Order: sequence, then structure tokens, then C-alpha cells
Amino acid sequence: MKKVYCPDCNEYSVKSGFQKGKQRYKCKVCNKRFQLYYTYKAYNENTNSLIKSLLKESCSVQGISRVLNISCGTEVSC
Ligand SMILES: [Zn+2]
Repeated sequence: MKKVYCPDCNEYSVKSGFQKGKQRYKCKVCNKRFQLYYTYKAYNENTNSLIKSLLKESCSVQGISRVLNISCGTEVSC
């Protein structure tokens, strides 16, 4: 099963029941609740374009991960 990470602080989040038939998740660290579909869509579009521009500037994937506070292999394929 795919792990879910908080869109705010990128910490591992756990399932937190359903709302209107959709799975909700709750961040263990900041206690933010969110739905996977909406948060991931916005998150990926913004982050992926930013990563592409950073890669053009010869930033390393590890460096980009640190700057953006993301985990490779989860939300973004890098
Ligand atoms: Zn969080």
C-alpha cells in the first residue's frame, strides 16, 4: 500500500475515516486532515514544475529534496 504524506509538512500521515465516501488522512505531526485526491493533485503540479526548473540548473535530486522538503520516491518520481 502506498504511503501518504502530509501536504504541509511532508510527514507520514494515517487514515482518518471517511468524509462523503472519500478516504481522509490525518498528519501525525501537525494534525492537519486532508483528502488524498485534492492535495496530491495540487502538490504534484506545483512541485514537479519546480523540480524540473531546478534540475535544469544542475541541482542534485538530493539537494532539491532538501530544499523542497520532499521525499524522493513518494509524491514525485525522481
Ligand atoms: Zn503535517
